[in-house]
Amino acid sequence: MTSFAERKKPISPEWDPWDAWYTRSKEGRYRLTSVEFTVTNLCNLRCEHCAVGEALVEKEGVSLPVEQLIRQLEKVEDLQTLSITGGEPIVNRHVVDNTIRPLLQYAKQRGIYTQLNSNLTLPLSRYEDWIEDIDVLHISYNYRDEADFQRMAFANANHQPSATLTNRLFQRLKDNAIVLSKAGVFISAETFLSPFTAPHLPHMHKEIAEMGCKRHEVHPLYPSDFAKGMKLLSVDEYKAAIENLLNDRDPAIWILFGTLPIYPCSHHQSDQDLWLRLFHEPNITVRQDPDGRNRLNINAFTGDVIVTDFADVPPLGNIKTDSLTTIFDLWLDHPLAKKYHCYCPKAHCTGPNLLVANTYYQDVDFQARKAHISV
Ligand code: SF4
Repeated sequence: MTSFAERKKPISPEWDPWDAWYTRSKEGRYRLTSVEFTVTNLCNLRCEHCAVGEALVEKEGVSLPVEQLIRQLEKVEDLQTLSITGGEPIVNRHVVDNTIRPLLQYAKQRGIYTQLNSNLTLPLSRYEDWIEDIDVLHISYNYRDEADFQRMAFANANHQPSATLTNRLFQRLKDNAIVLSKAGVFISAETFLSPFTAPHLPHMHKEIAEMGCKRHEVHPLYPSDFAKGMKLLSVDEYKAAIENLLNDRDPAIWILFGTLPIYPCSHHQSDQDLWLRLFHEPNITVRQDPDGRNRLNINAFTGDVIVTDFADVPPLGNIKTDSLTTIFDLWLDHPLAKKYHCYCPKAHCTGPNLLVANTYYQDVDFQARKAHISV
């Protein structure tokens, strides 16, 4: 008999199980198909752009029993993907052994796709004996060189580590990515676009390709937490950075544009043209925000459930008292969800992310707009 795991279709530009598009377009509504756990607020880095930022800690207690987390997952009938994030999920061995491994085993046995977010700077041995249970290893890559890494990865540290140490961490990140990619791990490397990273995007893309990563994710810088106050690109600068990458890319690498701040209801011809270009170029996808469209985030310590791991929306419930599907249905009725859950099927668009809309489109009523193009 074929196991659930064997029935999983490989992830590809044609099949991205985190994409809320499939349920919305097939069933006419969003469903909870994706759950993310924040399993730790410890991290060995203090990046300037960290969206967890002030929530990072030096010490933390014990999380809720994993059986309690799994009991909640059992009730989510449509569950398709499970994401694990932090902090740095791998930094605490107790978390790896008592939360991450059991969650991955559960997901494997149920045929659920998994993603783990890591900065990949820990020794390779810390990843080796469970990594085969991960479908996507998500890393951040926003650096041209060691100096960039040192400046960015410890911008919010109380004590600046030596260049020798930060150089070693940066090299380890790259070496780990190469070894794990060669071993068949699907690494998706994300670059955020800011006035600093945008001019160097093609260079970073090349390095990501050289490390063997299968996918390059490009997202806006989210002006949240540590990143509040960092300079952002204008929409025109964002478009220019994307065009620049498209003209100088490795066609073998899948590029995923996440939470793109450009929409087919724009009156600007250049926005419409770019949307069409992204849709029709091979090995390119646009994924609008899963948060709140098919995903909820659970804090594994408190049980609080939030709609995203960095938007300033207070917890919507808690797994000690509420079921995830009830919380999700409540969220779909929330005024913020109603405001941004617009949908233009002919243009393959499911509307903006909360942070992006707040940043770039404060005065726009998306419910009153419609796409001007069809893909
Ligand atoms: S779904 Fe929303 S953002 Fe997308 S084109 Fe339609 S109105 Fe604009």
